[in-house]
Amino acid sequence: MDHSELHRIAAAALPFYAEQGGEAALFEHAWRQRLPLLIKGPTGSGKTRFVEHMAARLGRPLITVSCHDDLAAADLVGRHLLGAQGTVWADGPLARAVRQGAICYLDEVVEARKDTTVVLHPLADDRRVLPIERTGEQLTAPPEFMLVISYNPGYQSLLKSLKPSTRQRFVALTLGYPAPAVEETILRTEAGASPQLAATLVRLGTALRQLTDQDLEETASTRLLVMAARLAVSGVPLAAACRAAIVDALTDDADTAAALCEVVQALL
Ligand code: ADP
Repeated sequence: MDHSELHRIAAAALPFYAEQGGEAALFEHAWRQRLPLLIKGPTGSGKTRFVEHMAARLGRPLITVSCHDDLAAADLVGRHLLGAQGTVWADGPLARAVRQGAICYLDEVVEARKDTTVVLHPLADDRRVLPIERTGEQLTAPPEFMLVISYNPGYQSLLKSLKPSTRQRFVALTLGYPAPAVEETILRTEAGASPQLAATLVRLGTALRQLTDQDLEETASTRLLVMAARLAVSGVPLAAACRAAIVDALTDDADTAAALCEVVQALL
C-alpha cells in the first residue's frame, strides 16, 4: 500500500465536515494551546459534526454528553454504585474523558443546572483539574484532553444563559448556516442530492431563513435540508419531502405552515 492510498483511507475514515471558514484551524490551535472551546450556533448548523470531525482528525476519542435540565454534577463526574460486592465508584463521562485524554463535548450546556457547570471551572482554566469530591481524588487533565461546550444563542433567555464566570473561561467560536456553495456540497455528500436538487433546496433554505414575520422558534437548518434531500432522493415528490422534513418539522401552527408552504411552492 503506498502512501497516497494510506492517506486516502485515513481521510475516508474522517466524518465528513464542510468548513464554514477557518473553524478547523481555530479548533486545532485551541486544542494545542489547551484552551477550552465554546461553540455557538443554531440547531442543525453542524456543531456536533464539526466536533466529531475534529476529534477524528486529531486522533482523540470523543465523549459526548447531551445536557438537559436534570443533569447533575454526579452525572458528569461519577457516583458510587451499589453492586454485588458492595459499593464501587463509577466514573462519569467527564472523569472518563479526563483520564483518557479525550475530547469531551457537552452539547446544549445551558440546559444543565447552574451548579453542574461549576464543576467545569477548575478544568476550564489553567489548573486543568477535576476534583472528585466523593472519592477525594483530583484528576489532572493530560495535554490531549479538551473540553468543548456548545449552545444555541437563539434559545437564550435570562434564565438560560451561561454564567459569565463560566463563559469567560472558553475561547468562543460562532457557526451560522454555511454559504450556499458549501451547503450544496453538504446536501450532495450527505444525501446524494443531484446538483440541481441541492441548489433548489439551498435556495429554499435561504428564503425561509429570511422570513422574520413568522412566529418561528427555529428556522430551516442544514439538518432539515439534508432530511428533505434524503426523502427526495429516495423518491418522495419534492413538495411532499419539503413539507415533511421542513415545514411540519418547524411548526405545529396551521397558518404558519400555510405561509411556509407558499414559500416552498414559489421556489420549487
Ligand atoms: P448541531 O449539532 O449544530 O445541531 P449537527 O452537527 O448534528 O448540528 O448537524 C446536523 C446534520 O447536518 C449533520 O448530521 C449533517 O448531515 C449536516 N451538516 C450540517 N452542517 C454540516 C457541515 N458543515 N458539514 C457536513 N455536514 C453538515
